[in-house]
Amino acid sequence: MVRFEKVTKAYGPLVVLDSLDLDIAPDEKVAIIGPSGSGKTTVLRMLMTLERINDGVIYVDGEPLTHMEKNGQLVPADQRHLRRMRGKIGMVFQHFNLFPHMTAIKNCMEAPVTVLGLSKAEARERAAELLEMVGLGDKLDHYPSQLSGGQQQRVAIARALAMRPKIMLFDEVTSALDPELVGEVLNVIRKLGTEHNLTMLMVTHQMGFAKEFADRVCFFYGGRIVEEGKPDELFSAPENERTRQFLSAVL
Ligand code: ADP
Repeated sequence: MVRFEKVTKAYGPLVVLDSLDLDIAPDEKVAIIGPSGSGKTTVLRMLMTLERINDGVIYVDGEPLTHMEKNGQLVPADQRHLRRMRGKIGMVFQHFNLFPHMTAIKNCMEAPVTVLGLSKAEARERAAELLEMVGLGDKLDHYPSQLSGGQQQRVAIARALAMRPKIMLFDEVTSALDPELVGEVLNVIRKLGTEHNLTMLMVTHQMGFAKEFADRVCFFYGGRIVEEGKPDELFSAPENERTRQFLSAVL
């Protein structure tokens, strides 16, 4: 579903991703962990085509993300290709990023109407179902400022799902929340994982959740994956010295 093939990203002299290879299977749940500045968020930003890569190729759902094939050659993608590819991916950010002047249901209707061309009635029905699914069926007409952080983050998840993505990206989605609100957001992600066929990639500091939820954990250091494996193995018997140091600091 997702493949990074020797992807390099640099900001001037700073190499942030260093010839990164990463393969994610359909429906797989992958947690990305690692110290601050190791390139975790950059991986997600690349997938959202928010950043250009310097070298390598990213494939999504079997197709190159930012290139397209023309006469057997890879050429830079046009806007149409980019729009289609972006539609396969939903992202939820640390700071919810909801539209403050729109109610919860309007937040979830906006892109399906303007990007997918759904009628308002169809978009409303889809949005209401999703808000129900994340436990906010009674908050459809609330504005973000009238919702707690955990509720806002659940709206953000529903909003991403309203575009029917195949892949969901979560970037430290509980980091800005008060501790007592973390659980409700993780419960929604857990539910998504079991009830929907979604490939999920999450950058997280919640080691307990990564251990329980992920099929695979990738430990990033210096723009590379220095160790990866099943959560049980990686957390209980890390082989790499960097992984050991990181885990002993955070666990
Ligand atoms: P992580 O998510 O692991 O904390 P990031 O992917 O956010 O790391 O960042 C990796 C490195 O890239 C950091 O050193 C960061 O300072 C740098 N970086 C990120 N975005 C930019 C940018 N737009 N310009 C310059 N440096 C950046």
